[in-house]
Amino acid sequence: MNSPESAGDGTITTSVAIVGAGIVGVATALNLQRKGLDVVLVDEREPGEGAS
Ligand SMILES: Cc1cc2nc3c(=O)[nH]c(=O)nc-3n(C[C@H](O)[C@H](O)[C@H](O)COP(=O)(O)OP(=O)(O)OC[C@H]3O[C@@H](n4cnc5c(N)ncnc54)[C@H](O)[C@@H]3O)c2cc1C
Repeated sequence: MNSPESAGDGTITTSVAIVGAGIVGVATALNLQRKGLDVVLVDEREPGEGAS
């Protein structure tokens, strides 16, 4: 499995960057990671806050 790479200066290199860790973003990230892609998921709030 691939992993995102950090340059140590705050720069991250990844195949897929998903902005928004709601249920849609989390599900998309999980599916892409299971297919072997390196994924970075970012959110300005707590991940998954909207769904119960
Ligand atoms: C008032 C209300 C109550 C609800 N109650 C429930 C409930 O009890 N149970 C339930 O299952 N569903 C509930 N829902 C529905 C549920 O919130 C949505 O169906 C579901 O969360 C949508 O998921 P989403 O991933 O599309 O979007 P969201 O959950 O909205 O996720 C989008 C994410 O993107 C992030 N984001 C947006 N812009 C940026 C940016 N520029 N930079 C970084 N991050 C960003 C946000 O912080 C957010 O976390 C409710 C909805 C509302 C409006």
